[in-house]
Amino acid sequence: MRIDILTLFPEMCESVLSESIIGRARANGCVEINCRNIRDYTLDKHNRVDDSPYGGGTGMIMQTQPIFDCFNSLCEEIGKRPHLIYLSPQGKTLTQERVKELSKLDNLVLLCGHYEGVDQRVIDEIVDEEISIGDYVLTGGELPALILADSISRMLPGVLANEDAFTLESHYSGLLEYPQYTRPYEWHGEKVPDVLISGHHANIQKWQREQSLKRTLERRPDLLEKADLTKKDIEYLNKLKTAEVE
Ligand code: SAM
Repeated sequence: MRIDILTLFPEMCESVLSESIIGRARANGCVEINCRNIRDYTLDKHNRVDDSPYGGGTGMIMQTQPIFDCFNSLCEEIGKRPHLIYLSPQGKTLTQERVKELSKLDNLVLLCGHYEGVDQRVIDEIVDEEISIGDYVLTGGELPALILADSISRMLPGVLANEDAFTLESHYSGLLEYPQYTRPYEWHGEKVPDVLISGHHANIQKWQREQSLKRTLERRPDLLEKADLTKKDIEYLNKLKTAEVE
């Protein structure tokens, strides 16, 4: 998969994308992520890419021309028109479900706004989808774009050790993950739950599933409405609700 980030601050993105798991995935060719500087496409003789808003108000608005030309040059390079997402606090909130769907595309372009945002006309003309990472406002779309690129990349083949690394995690199946432990066995007087050192695989799986259900009920009961639940899961949840189990 190829992801292109259109930004006024490519170094900000590069510094994150060259580290750790995503850095290795890029180096190994599991994912291609490029950052394109929108400023390189401005036709303004002073290299400007923004101007003050019509109608007044504080801050600057990113202008249509550099963004439009930047995207078009990318389309020409790729040889087709890829799906373009504008990261925006006004977009639909990102979910694991949407990440899963987007990870199936061959190409994806992420447009980062900055300052007070982007001239509406270029959004109307080239943007396919607006995505928000939550109901709060950041100074720019770079961090949201990196969040999206990271969440998509880790689902691509070869990026993580195996599929379990993400399919068993929080949100993938609609539940939160069970608590995890590692060495030492005892720390500050607290021991690891006995079942986890029993070596009994079926019991361990049952415990993990039940802990997942319990956590989700306690922390995010809203998720249970859409989760993929078995008859046994529902029985266990009902017992939890009537406090028959701990
Ligand atoms: N004036 C805009 C508004 O009120 O909707 C906010 C602009 S914000 C200060 C600047 C840029 O940061 C936006 O264009 C967008 O790209 C990005 N941004 C800020 N918060 C975001 C969020 N929650 N999700 C995704 N992008 C966000």
